Amino acid sequence: MVKEKKAAKYVYSFGGGKADGNESMKNLLGGKGANLAEMAGHPSLRLPVPPGFTLTTEVCTYYYAHKKTYPKVLKIQMEKALVKMEKLTGKKFGDKQNPLLVSIRSGARRSMPGMMETVLNVGLNETTIKGIIQQSGDARFAYDAYRRLIMMYADVVLEKAEGIEPKGGKGIRKLLDEKLENIKHKQGYAHDTDITADELKVLVNEYKKTIKKVLGVDFPDDPMQQLWGAVGAVFSSWNGKRANEYRRIEKIPHEWGTAVNVQAMVFGNMGDDSCTGVAFTRNPGNGQNKFYGEYLVNAQGEDVVAGIRTPAPVNEYSMNEQSKQFTSLEKLMPSLYKELFSYQRRLEKHYKDMQDIEFTIEKGTLYMLQCRVGKRNGIAAVRMATEMYKEKLIDMKTALMRVGPNQLVELLLPMIDPKAELIQPVIARGLPAGPGGAKGRVVFTSEDAVEWASKGEKVILVREETSPEDVDGMHKAEAILTTKGGMTSHAALVARGWGKCCIVGCADIEIRSEGKLFEAKNGVIIKEGDCITLNGTKGLVFEGSMPLVDIDIEKNKSYKDLMKLVDKVKQIGVRANAETPADAITAMKFGAEGIGLFRTEHMFYGEGSEDPLLQLRKMIVSKTEKERINALNDLFRYVKKDVKATLDVMKGFPVTIRLLDPPLHEFVPHDKEKLQQLGKELGISMSVLRRRVLALHENNPMLGHRGVRLGVSYPEITEMQVRAIFEATSELIKQGKKILPEIMVPVTCTVNELVHQRKIVDRVYKEVCEKMHMKKIPYLYGTMIEIPRAALKAAQMAESADFFSFGTNDLTQMSFGFSRDDIGGFLPKYLDEKILTDDPFQTIDQEGIGELIKFGTERGRKTKPNLKVGICGEHGGDPESVKFCHRIGMNYVSCSAFRVPIARLAAAQAAIESPRRK
Ligand code: PEP
Ligand code: MG
Repeated sequence: MVKEKKAAKYVYSFGGGKADGNESMKNLLGGKGANLAEMAGHPSLRLPVPPGFTLTTEVCTYYYAHKKTYPKVLKIQMEKALVKMEKLTGKKFGDKQNPLLVSIRSGARRSMPGMMETVLNVGLNETTIKGIIQQSGDARFAYDAYRRLIMMYADVVLEKAEGIEPKGGKGIRKLLDEKLENIKHKQGYAHDTDITADELKVLVNEYKKTIKKVLGVDFPDDPMQQLWGAVGAVFSSWNGKRANEYRRIEKIPHEWGTAVNVQAMVFGNMGDDSCTGVAFTRNPGNGQNKFYGEYLVNAQGEDVVAGIRTPAPVNEYSMNEQSKQFTSLEKLMPSLYKELFSYQRRLEKHYKDMQDIEFTIEKGTLYMLQCRVGKRNGIAAVRMATEMYKEKLIDMKTALMRVGPNQLVELLLPMIDPKAELIQPVIARGLPAGPGGAKGRVVFTSEDAVEWASKGEKVILVREETSPEDVDGMHKAEAILTTKGGMTSHAALVARGWGKCCIVGCADIEIRSEGKLFEAKNGVIIKEGDCITLNGTKGLVFEGSMPLVDIDIEKNKSYKDLMKLVDKVKQIGVRANAETPADAITAMKFGAEGIGLFRTEHMFYGEGSEDPLLQLRKMIVSKTEKERINALNDLFRYVKKDVKATLDVMKGFPVTIRLLDPPLHEFVPHDKEKLQQLGKELGISMSVLRRRVLALHENNPMLGHRGVRLGVSYPEITEMQVRAIFEATSELIKQGKKILPEIMVPVTCTVNELVHQRKIVDRVYKEVCEKMHMKKIPYLYGTMIEIPRAALKAAQMAESADFFSFGTNDLTQMSFGFSRDDIGGFLPKYLDEKILTDDPFQTIDQEGIGELIKFGTERGRKTKPNLKVGICGEHGGDPESVKFCHRIGMNYVSCSAFRVPIARLAAAQAAIESPRRK
């Protein structure tokens, strides 16, 4: 006999200490349904959850695949589940004496707060209302519930789910709301609660008439029809505009569908012995292990969320300035509070994580309505993870996975006081290039920034974009705001290196009046000297001066505990990109294990750069070798001093010193005074100097005379730098210090360039050994891989390199053909249209650029198995990119000092997710 195929199970019941499903079934039951089942049915919980059932996400996918119809067996399964609910509650759906009312709520695999619809009080009609009045003894309460149902049903089921576009933009909810307001106005009532039962009764009839008139249908009196209507509307809301938009942003697949939960109603608004509330098992704001929450007496859940009345604290701990006049639940209903307290403890112990819970007390009986993992800020995340580990609630790996690497930013930088940010309107949005908060007075030029700052003013530098000439002003400014540029534009890169707050590509503002004011899209005008506040973590601009909260990481014990765990687990090294001894000290403080990129040219920008810059300029405009060597001899002592100080700070950790890279024209002065000074120094006329400067002009400097090409054209430039590095190293070693420099050649595309430069290095090495009486000087010689050809020819490149460091800024620029400074102009559209999923300058494009990196690493190591491989582009501080680098077997990542902790945590998580064989 052929065995009949068992019908699929579409309905899962819960309640009365039992449940068909459990927490592990989120894909099928949605987060809410799975957690309700767990709370109701798990032997160690069995909490008082109002009984109900969940229609699975498979019903939703069926619904959309079959022209909004349901599987045949659904009706019978649902009816059975309803009977179970009736037994557990002792009530009956549609009964005139003791009617059961239900709520219909959505619940996707991942929470989509407020994006889908809800219908409450389903089952109320002209007959059942009599039973509700009798049971509750409160006609006002019953009619209020009825009018709420009619309003919600009309809005969600009869209008939205039907796809009706309201005439003149005024939806049915608004029209019905106006009727309620009319009564209040006519009677002079201040609150909804002042409206009497009789008035509500009249209102209910008016609601029904309006619905018929506006939508052309009757509000259904049949409870079963109400139930199916509401279920269909919630499934439809999965495809609503809001939900679609949210899924796009959060990258939630459309195919998932939502589950629908049908649950017995309990009422927190049945009088003063009823209430409803939301609470957390630990404080989500600071992570403290204290029960924290709010509640409202005589109210429904929706009232807490909507902020209509100010809720009171659940306990004395949750009291604050605004709420101290209220009575806590702990005081008002001590024994129910105790019960709630014990449930929340059980829930946290069971889920081994902080829970966000919703509860209702109906006439002295406590019900648990929902629980889920609670959202928390970075500070709280670190504290909870480390404390739960210490409490032995979770193991080390779980603790490390609990903190999002980017959440650490909140612990490292000052930020806008979250309370102030909640109430202040945003005037413009841009790309969040440098995290943290900052406030100051607006200036529009680097010179003004320097001048104002020297007078003790805190300033924010606002520019269309920045260039190396602005560095001084950028340094002096509290924060930088640019209207153009992308995440690796000059402003972004420099600011991040300093851990400075920065917003770039802020097209919402326009600088006008020859740079004396800017106007935001919304019309707000900010003049020079006006105060603004930036949230660089989110890319938000605010008018005026807002309070900031300062953070000292050394004082954060939880952070230190977390980092100790990080170091036990991670398998890839983390270095910092640092240009000065001060940067190096910061890097060490954040736990860097070396410097992966020391950009030599940085000594020519900003404070103290006047003299070395003059020497560099002399070298650039030199015509003869003699002139050049003279200039280089002068420059030598600056380079040596700078390199030496940084090597010294790093105490034996490797320091990768990159030979000069930027296009020379960047350093040529443009103002007359500086040109005159230069001509004088060189002993040449202005017209000769002008001709020489003109000759340096390039049409495409990013692909021009830069990097190793300089060292090939002018070997003496390489020689000077290498000599400085070897001499500095020798002197430190003679002081008994452990020193390890790595000489890195930038912008290479063929091994012949490396061979060419290596000859110079070898010769200078010998000379310095002799001069300094050193038998040997430790060092490595290697190259950046930042031109696609270099990656493709990695096998050959490795023949003349001890290490590779992937320069993913240029590698991305040159592989995509996207200018790193101009991507801001078209990237938003690319992201909007889903042509790209992410900014490739922010996170490694793993399927494209990642292939080049993987290929280059493998080929290089085939030639030289011990080849050291790292990354020093901005991606070195992006958690997903760090994980990628770990997976492909790199030795280290290097990023700006302020991102070192983030990269360390990402590295530890990578080692947990895909451990390397030791
Ligand atoms: C790179 O190109 O990735 C790099 C680190 O070098 P720079 O940003 O200085 O060009
Ligand atoms: Mg580069």
